[in-house]
Amino acid sequence: MKPLAQTIATAVVLIALAVTASSARQAAGLKVFLSVDMEGLAGVVTGSDVSPTGPDYAHFRAIMAGETNAAIEGAFLAGATDVLVRDSHGSKQNLLPGALDPRARLLRGASTGPKNMMEGIDASFAAAVFIGYHAKAGTPNAILEHTSNGNVQDFAINGVSLPEGGYNALVAGLYNVPVVFASGDRAVVEQLRGLLGPIGAVAVKEEIADASFGMSPKQAQDEIRKGVEAAVRARTAARPYKMPGPYTMVLRVRQERPLHPGATRTRPGESTFTHPDLLEILNAFNAMK
Ligand SMILES: [Zn+2]
Repeated sequence: MKPLAQTIATAVVLIALAVTASSARQAAGLKVFLSVDMEGLAGVVTGSDVSPTGPDYAHFRAIMAGETNAAIEGAFLAGATDVLVRDSHGSKQNLLPGALDPRARLLRGASTGPKNMMEGIDASFAAAVFIGYHAKAGTPNAILEHTSNGNVQDFAINGVSLPEGGYNALVAGLYNVPVVFASGDRAVVEQLRGLLGPIGAVAVKEEIADASFGMSPKQAQDEIRKGVEAAVRARTAARPYKMPGPYTMVLRVRQERPLHPGATRTRPGESTFTHPDLLEILNAFNAMK
C-alpha cells in the first residue's frame, strides 16, 4: 500500500474503532437504583403515618411518590438512561405505579431472598440512591429509628453496627455500586455519612423532643432533585461500601427466634453466624430477626 492510502486506511480504522466504543457506552447506558423507604419522608413522625391503616397514610403515600419522582428527575438530569425504583417499606406496596414518573421502572411487592430493600440491584448499575431512610434501632434524636423490624436491638457485621442503609450499601458494594445520595432525618444522614463517607444527602427533618421539625414536602423534593442530580454526576468519586470477608454477624433481639442452621446463641437474645457470602449472612439475619 502507498503511504497516503495507508494513512487513510489507518484513519478509517481508528474512526471505526472510536464509533464502536462510543456506541458500546451508549448501549450500556447509565443505570441508577433507587431504594425508597417511608419513615424518613418529609413530615412523617409516627408509625401510623406509614401504616396502611393510619388516617394520613394516603397523604404520606403521595409524598413518597413526590420524593421518588424528584430523585428520578435528578437522575435523568444527570444523564441516567434507566432508573429502577425499589419500594422498600413494609409490604413494598406503597408506591402506586400510576403515580410514578413513567421513565422509571418500579419493583413492587415483597420479594423472596436476601436482598429485600435492594432487590433488583446488579453490576449493571452505576449508582444507588436511598430516599426516605431512617436511623438504626437505638439511635438518639432520631425519628422512627429501628433496624428492619421492632424486634432487632442491634445488627453488626464484622464489629460494625449497621442501620438498614449500611447493610443495603454492602449489598450494592457486592456489585461495586456506590451509594451516592441519601435522604431522611438528620440522624440517618449523619449515620450514613459516618459509614459511607461524604455522600450527597438531604436532611428533610430533625427530631425535637420526639417530634419532627422540617421542610415542606415541596422544599424537600426540590432539594432531593438537586442533590441527586449532583451526586449522580459526581458518581465516579464515590466508593462502593465493602468489607473483606468472611463475615461474622452479631444479632441482638428482644424476642428470640429459632436459630438459623450454623448460627450460635452467645447469650440470651444474642446470636452469631459466620459465612464467606454476605447474602448468606442476610439470610440468617432475616431468619432470626
Ligand atoms: Zn420503612
